Amino acid sequence: MSGILVVAEHMRGKLADISAELVGAALSIKNHVGGGLSVVVIGKDAASFEKQVNLAGVDKVMLVPVEEEHFDAAVTEQALCSIIEKEQPELVLLAHSASGLSVAAGLAVRLGGGFVSDVFGIGFDNGRLRATRSGYGGKVNIELECPDKPVVVMTLRGATFKAASGDGQAQLQEIGIDLAPVAKRRSRHVEYIEAPSSGVDIGKAEFILSVGRGIQDEKNIPRFQELADRLGATLGCSRPVADSGWLHKGHQVGLTGKVAVNCKLYIALGISGAVQHLHGMKHIETIIAINTDPNAPIFNVATHGGVMDVFEFAGALEKIS
Ligand SMILES: Cc1cc2nc3c(=O)[nH]c(=O)nc-3n(C[C@H](O)[C@H](O)[C@H](O)COP(=O)(O)OP(=O)(O)OC[C@H]3O[C@@H](n4cnc5c(N)ncnc54)[C@H](O)[C@@H]3O)c2cc1C
Repeated sequence: MSGILVVAEHMRGKLADISAELVGAALSIKNHVGGGLSVVVIGKDAASFEKQVNLAGVDKVMLVPVEEEHFDAAVTEQALCSIIEKEQPELVLLAHSASGLSVAAGLAVRLGGGFVSDVFGIGFDNGRLRATRSGYGGKVNIELECPDKPVVVMTLRGATFKAASGDGQAQLQEIGIDLAPVAKRRSRHVEYIEAPSSGVDIGKAEFILSVGRGIQDEKNIPRFQELADRLGATLGCSRPVADSGWLHKGHQVGLTGKVAVNCKLYIALGISGAVQHLHGMKHIETIIAINTDPNAPIFNVATHGGVMDVFEFAGALEKIS
């Protein structure tokens, strides 16, 4: 077995950003794995994504047209099983998304392969494929190998790996799959229901002003929202602020929120710096932390820190902004 198979993800006619990120992750280890890099697109409109997934470094694009208009886990699993049995890749990469998760584990079991989910690091150590994911609520990083497995299936975390870019010169192949084994389905697509939007994109924001439980009350949110607007920052928050309903979940930074991938400046106001919060922001180049507790862990990752009251700090910023 050799080579890597990337499973492109798309929904309602749009290719998901994670597809190019999966290719980027695959390219970073392609030389170690050996063999080619293939991308498979399964769906009624699979052909419409041909150019978008034909990225530099991709050797083969496989298009699998199916009758189903929408993602169907049983169809996707069956199609992938057939392709993997024929192509024999060593590694299969899917998105760590609702769709990816509904297929990946079952696929690994059917293939007798290894399985690692929510991977945020991938590499080779002593010639062995190694994946990194977190455990115990983000308190530890775990490095995993799947020795002696014919194939390893992984779901990769979004907005984590550098997306591949540039036009490729992949060989194109259209594949028909026998879907008779899944003709009798136990589930069917009913409808999409849009999640209410927060209107913010933490992953894309370059400057985030983030508030934690230290702001003490929901009634203080408008003041910090206004301050963020005046400074040209996106308003972020810690989990308790989102869990309490003070801000939409879309503002949450951290393990179960969003990773501030593109952020250059992060101001943490009244945030203690729990590992799960740090997960989403500790990589940022410039972090300014304001906290009344001089021992708050946020100061361990801060570039500049102020042991002071958030309201006093906000008042000073309001005067100059
Ligand atoms: C599985 C799991 C996933 C999680 N995912 C996330 C996640 O994605 N994001 C996340 O943020 N958390 C997450 N958490 C929760 C996390 O463990 C912490 O509980 C949370 O980050 C704490 O939020 P906080 O810092 O706002 O609150 P606290 O820990 O209560 O800290 C408040 C801070 O404000 C300071 N403070 C109080 N008053 C003032 C004042 N007037 N001026 C200045 N400072 C003041 C205090 O000294 C304190 O340090 C997760 C937990 C688990 C178990």
